[in-house]
Amino acid sequence: MLQLESANIQVGAQASSKEQAIRQVADLLVRSGCIEPGYADSMLAREKVANTFLGQGVAIPHGLPKDRDLIKRTGIAVLQVPQGVPWQAGDTAQLIVGIAAKSDEHIDILSNLTDLLFQEDLIARLAVTREPQEIAEALSAARVDEAVPSSEEPADLDRSVEATVAGAHGLHARPATAFVERAKGFASEVIVRHGTKTANGKSLAALLKLGVKTNGRVRISAQGPDADAALAALQELIEQGEEEEHVLAGPTHGWTPRSAGATVPGLAASPGLAIGPVRLLRQRRIVVERTAKDPVRERQRLLDAIATARAELQELYEDVKKKTGAGGAAIFLAHAEFLADPGLMERAEARIAQGESAGWAWQKSIEAEADGLEKVDDPLLAGRATDLRDVGMRVLRRLAGVIEEEPELPAEPVLLLADDLTPSDAAALDPAHVLGFCTVGGGPTSHAAIIARSLGIPAVVGAGPVVLHQPEGAMAVLDGDNGVLYIEPSAEDLQEAREAQKSLAGLRDVEHRTRYEPALTTDGVRIEVVANTGLSKEAAQAVEAGGEGIGLMRSEFLFLERDTPPSEDEQYEAYKQAVDALQGLPVIIRTLDIGGDKAVPYLDLPAEENPFLGVRGVRLCFAYPELFKTQLRAIFRASVHGPVKIMFPMIATLADLREALAISEQVRQELGVGKVETGIMIEVPSAVLMAPELAELADFFSIGTNDLTQYVLAMDRGHPRLAKQADGLHPAVLRMIDQTVRAATAKNRWVGVCGGVAGDPLGAVILVGLGVTELSVSIPSIAAIKARVRNLSMKDAQELARRALACDSAEAVRGLAKGKR
Ligand code: PEP
Ligand code: MG
Repeated sequence: MLQLESANIQVGAQASSKEQAIRQVADLLVRSGCIEPGYADSMLAREKVANTFLGQGVAIPHGLPKDRDLIKRTGIAVLQVPQGVPWQAGDTAQLIVGIAAKSDEHIDILSNLTDLLFQEDLIARLAVTREPQEIAEALSAARVDEAVPSSEEPADLDRSVEATVAGAHGLHARPATAFVERAKGFASEVIVRHGTKTANGKSLAALLKLGVKTNGRVRISAQGPDADAALAALQELIEQGEEEEHVLAGPTHGWTPRSAGATVPGLAASPGLAIGPVRLLRQRRIVVERTAKDPVRERQRLLDAIATARAELQELYEDVKKKTGAGGAAIFLAHAEFLADPGLMERAEARIAQGESAGWAWQKSIEAEADGLEKVDDPLLAGRATDLRDVGMRVLRRLAGVIEEEPELPAEPVLLLADDLTPSDAAALDPAHVLGFCTVGGGPTSHAAIIARSLGIPAVVGAGPVVLHQPEGAMAVLDGDNGVLYIEPSAEDLQEAREAQKSLAGLRDVEHRTRYEPALTTDGVRIEVVANTGLSKEAAQAVEAGGEGIGLMRSEFLFLERDTPPSEDEQYEAYKQAVDALQGLPVIIRTLDIGGDKAVPYLDLPAEENPFLGVRGVRLCFAYPELFKTQLRAIFRASVHGPVKIMFPMIATLADLREALAISEQVRQELGVGKVETGIMIEVPSAVLMAPELAELADFFSIGTNDLTQYVLAMDRGHPRLAKQADGLHPAVLRMIDQTVRAATAKNRWVGVCGGVAGDPLGAVILVGLGVTELSVSIPSIAAIKARVRNLSMKDAQELARRALACDSAEAVRGLAKGKR
């Protein structure tokens, strides 16, 4: 357990600004060998994107995760400023707890700190004590464990399973909401343990406070009549993570101002260019009485207000879902879940019983809970405090005596400047009136940012307090692609921005309206733009989005997350469902591609030292012939209902292809059905080099640039540190594609690309220039890629491809896009 050393505590310090205080606390950490001096800048940078003020005069500055390399060892330092130092608007910090966290050991101290916040007298004493030892003791675990009885934390239950949290952002609001909802569907009690902390699995606030990050281990335990079923369902949910937000491969505006002028830099949160006068959003202030005479009446008022707020949230969910889809709206279900939290209600009721008014009791309970969430060292989870305050405010409005300065949303088109926008604020924005927004706080993953993206409102967030000091009504340009607000740009810049904006809007509109038209280059070459899909139900979505078929159906999705392989009939139904939905458009069903990073527990695959170089894809199918034949039978049976093609993954040698073809031909003859066009994925360098021979046997090639890139550059496709370098636009990969296309064309075979490069706006152009005739991309990218092809002449594409092949790095290839659209 991490201990706070007295040497890391400085009492009686003076600081006139937040920056000074942070630099001093960073100095303590430098002196004790915890950090490199540069980490101080990272701590200051964090303040721009998150408020590290915990409450009760305590702040916890810490650096950005990307700068963890500057941390030499985990440590904590405390700077006590008895006179106080201004922190965020209206907050004064007296105890500044600097954190350098290499891993998660500091979480215990943070947790202790949050518990201390409830002991106002103790905190007040620590803010002025002359004894560093007193602070050290108060923050040490033993002391706090005494103060907070451990009985408050639920104990593990009878049966348990372990799970690793998947998804890019850990157990944050949306996955935690899904967990709570699923848990509530079971009669059994559910407890989640993460390290030394436990939480009731049916309480959203408790779950969030565990602060579980991506790849964090949790133990889920349950007790009751359906404990086993609950554990299986919850384990699956935790491990599957949440769906990634799809980002459209849309055009960028390409505008940059000629003169510098006044700029407010922030973080890009929602792309696009917005132009208009700036307008400050005044924050609301709700005033409630502190006490009330009749606790029974107050309790009822609170229950009524919560019920009304829940009804409003349900309506809001439906409304936002209609406008932006379920993903953007899901946060309002999470809000409703907060309101169902038994702990929150209990705390408010206890306060009401002591004579507080419903509004006061509710406000204080929400504040305490939100402060608890903010202590978690994770900007995403800390951001959920904003959600809790937002939903708290929704209830409070129903209980308030006076509402001062109710914010007026603008009635004429403006660029909105605000401290922060809650999800409710963001959902209430009317794109006709709010052209764009820029906020002091928030991050690109906040729900306000997600909603802005789905409403198509350009946004910049985390731009700091300077946002609130702009002249009301000043003309400005908000660049959501690059995260900058330009105040009072020159007339020339303004004019150019308007032109760029107009052409961008025109392009987007055209993309959508023309999504069903074929993708013909300006000189008449037809490029097929088709979809990459997983489950069969996506086939209909692909057609709706303008897809001309499915270029890659990742059939392994049918085999994952279950205990036994799907039967032949089950597979047949799934493939047929896709064929039917496509109404005559083609579907390429890729045979099972598991192994590597895709595991199926029921096959009991032996652990491999290098799974990506092991028994995966078609090699695995050869090792399990019955599995392979069953799938082929289902595909051939579905093929009688429409144009089905078969594709084998991970073909590395001619022998692979011969064997796959022989098995498939045997299955076809047994079934007595007609021949099916059969191709292969080109995703292994040996397949590129053997392409002339492979093209003799295969009807078509589809290049899997995701795997091809990892094998050509020898960079694991999922490696967090190599992700940026593992770029499919590297000339080494492009030269491989070029070689493949040449070999295929010589044998009259067509070549498609179904890896990520096909959905990259620049990548698509280069591929077309290299002679690829089919681009298989994610569903949301279809319209944009089709439009891109239509704006392209073969001559230009070929010239760009020629220049790309001659480049010496991926950066140089990407640099070719500059000035082009
Ligand atoms: C690829 O490797 O590019 C590909 C499309 O296949 P997957 O991503 O499913 O491995
Ligand atoms: Mg692949």
